[in-house]
Parts: sequence; structure tokens; C-alpha cells
Amino acid sequence: MSANSESKHSPCKEYAQCLEYLHLMLDNEATKEQKTFLMDHIDKCMVCFEQYEVEKQLRLLIKTGVTSQPVPVDLANQIKNKVFQSA
Ligand SMILES: [Zn+2]
Repeated sequence: MSANSESKHSPCKEYAQCLEYLHLMLDNEATKEQKTFLMDHIDKCMVCFEQYEVEKQLRLLIKTGVTSQPVPVDLANQIKNKVFQSA
């Protein structure tokens, strides 16, 4: 019997936890421990890293007042580039 099947595609085991911390952090409500956990985790976990970048940029867009209009294509591309560059 093969014991190797679980690492075939690796969804994040702590995804729910990360997502919760991620939102807390973006709301500036995360504790030091939660931040440390998240930063340490996204350093190793691509799934959560990408999620973090996407959510972060979304928050920025909302904050800067892009509420009723669709995101301009140029801006969307800039965000994509930023995400890729920082990876
Ligand atoms: Zn993860």
C-alpha cells in the first residue's frame, strides 16, 4: 500500500486558521502571536501567501475609495505585477 497519497496536492492544513488571522491582521486586530504565526506560515505556504496578498490589495482598494466603480484594468495589472515581484 502506498502511504504517499496525502502529499500529492498539498492544500493548507491550517488554512481556516490562517484566514482568520489574516483578516484580524488586516483589520489591525491581530495579537503579536497571531501576526508571528501568520508571517511565519506564509513564508512557507504559497496558498496562504497568495491569499494574503490578494486580501491586502483588496483592502487597499476599498480604503482608497474605489467602492462603486470597477477596478481599472491598469490598476489590476499593477497589483498582479506587485504580487509576482514580491514572490
Ligand atoms: Zn497555509
